[in-house]
Amino acid sequence: MAKVSINLATGSIQKEELIVGIDLGTTNSLVAFINQDKDAQVINDTGKGVLVPSIVHFGPTGDVTVGNEAKEFLINDPQNTIFSVKRLLGRSYKDIENYKDFFSYKVIDDDSESLVKIKVGDKFYTPIELSGLILKELKARAEHALKTPVNRAVITVPAYFNDSQRQATRDAGKLAGLDVLRIVNEPTAASLAYGIGLNPEETKTIAVYDLGGGTFDVSILQIQNGIFEVLSTNGDTFLGGDDFDRAIVEYWIEKNQLNKAELVANHELAQKLRLKAEEAKKAFSHQSLFNEKIGDIWCTLDRNTFEQLILPKVQQTITACENALRDSKLTINQIDEVVMVGGSTRTALVKKMVADFFKRPVHDEVNPDEVVALGAAIQADILAGNRKDILLLDVTPLSLGIETMGGLMDVIIPRNSKVPTKAGRQYTTSKDGQVNMKIAVYQGERDLIKENRKLAEFELKGIPSMPAGFPKVDINFLLNADGILKIQAVELRSGVKQEVEVKPTYGITDDQVEQMLMDSITHAKDDVNQRMLIEARTEGEQMVYTVERFIQKNGSYLSADELAETNNYIASLKAVLANGDKDAILKKIDEVNEFTRPFAERLMDQAISHAMKGKSIE
Ligand code: AMP
Repeated sequence: MAKVSINLATGSIQKEELIVGIDLGTTNSLVAFINQDKDAQVINDTGKGVLVPSIVHFGPTGDVTVGNEAKEFLINDPQNTIFSVKRLLGRSYKDIENYKDFFSYKVIDDDSESLVKIKVGDKFYTPIELSGLILKELKARAEHALKTPVNRAVITVPAYFNDSQRQATRDAGKLAGLDVLRIVNEPTAASLAYGIGLNPEETKTIAVYDLGGGTFDVSILQIQNGIFEVLSTNGDTFLGGDDFDRAIVEYWIEKNQLNKAELVANHELAQKLRLKAEEAKKAFSHQSLFNEKIGDIWCTLDRNTFEQLILPKVQQTITACENALRDSKLTINQIDEVVMVGGSTRTALVKKMVADFFKRPVHDEVNPDEVVALGAAIQADILAGNRKDILLLDVTPLSLGIETMGGLMDVIIPRNSKVPTKAGRQYTTSKDGQVNMKIAVYQGERDLIKENRKLAEFELKGIPSMPAGFPKVDINFLLNADGILKIQAVELRSGVKQEVEVKPTYGITDDQVEQMLMDSITHAKDDVNQRMLIEARTEGEQMVYTVERFIQKNGSYLSADELAETNNYIASLKAVLANGDKDAILKKIDEVNEFTRPFAERLMDQAISHAMKGKSIE
């Protein structure tokens, strides 16, 4: 952080503004920064601890509390206490329908396609606003602890987050008054915290195993030339340390022959048992027997029994590792490092089973609760330009492009391009006097847009009326480092402009990406043939349109013979357009071209030559 420099004009001390790294977690969140010794350090706001529970409580007078104080209300005021909001970020009701009972607060289901809202009292909140409140608290704590304003941050998200979820995270940061410089994948941050990937020359493949309180994921990353590519992810968004606690509680219920129905009704006792179970679980990090009482209930457990209780759950995570490895098309020997993330990786059995599976010792030297935030701080430091030799990049897995005439895909940013990246191309209209232009954005490798995935569609309106082929429309794609795509269309002659940012509501899984790539290979030959036919047809139709318009406007300049002959040529072009193949169409186009060129030249009507050149959008 903070290099201190002196302003020579005023003699005052200036601190360079620091950029913090934020781990915005499902259960807990935390902030880290780079200290004067150039080490990543988590922020511990005096007396409040490092971890801030990701919980927001709304009091009766509209007062808002966040963190540990809000957590206190989970039992007594559940409707007004929002936890696990990360599970709702960037999601529609349809996405979360299957686990709606998980939430004790009201998730609104009025419009299943749009993003969810949460009702608290008579007010509605979006998950973005709620996450914004958590980030605001983190910002305030960082400012309090560091005694300096904090306005810029790097925020981490799971590798499997889609564009919509990433954008929502970014928006939450904005609401909290933070300029979010980058959204970084959690496994990428974790590997940075271990210094993996900091040397641009090194090529490594790593597995990041993240087992938290309520979620589990494993990612296989390939790091090459400073690029972190996510090869595969797998996991279970409802598997974690809470399941270990539940298994212990079940065991104690059985041993003490407690009545389960009574316990369900007795919230306070249930909660006490749960907390005691968590205490026992943590104790096994340094002792092998736990023996305590709650009233006259014996809470006794030894480590061996504990391990038997949790074995099926841990085994589930190992199966997910197997699946991730299979999807990455790698073998265990190709994994160079294994990084452990999340509080539950402190459990000895977890470490042992993961190490056994990957056949190598795991990295557990860094505190698993802090490792992601520390890595985010390192990323922030890189962005601040303090580590000049390093540039962290990701690549885009699928091509991005727009629809051109005939339903063809025109790629603007090819797949595997390093991000951030910017690319553009110029287009024109296909009809005289066309004042609107539809711009449809697609993702995928196929030549026909109908086989690809639509990301957005908008209209550039207010193009001044000009002959076909005259307007010059620049379409630029800007793919930022978080994988969010900004599309800008501008008509250069008039300056009419339109901009959209793509926030697809639904994400795309790695499996789908893979399927799309496979399909593009299988259908490559058909696609090329079809593209050529469509291109020929589009060109032919364009030719018919232009020549007919030409005759309509300028027919009087032609002799009767020329007119009749032109009509014959057009009629035979139309005939092949209806059922001819590509070569027949191209041959007829050439003939029409040959015959009509002298007229066009004669009249110096540029509309023809313009319209025949370049690509046009409907
Ligand atoms: P996280 O979501 O990454 O903050 O992880 C929280 C989970 O880690 C909770 O289920 C905790 O009970 C668990 N945890 C914290 N400390 C330990 C420990 N020493 N041994 C086992 N689990 C732990």
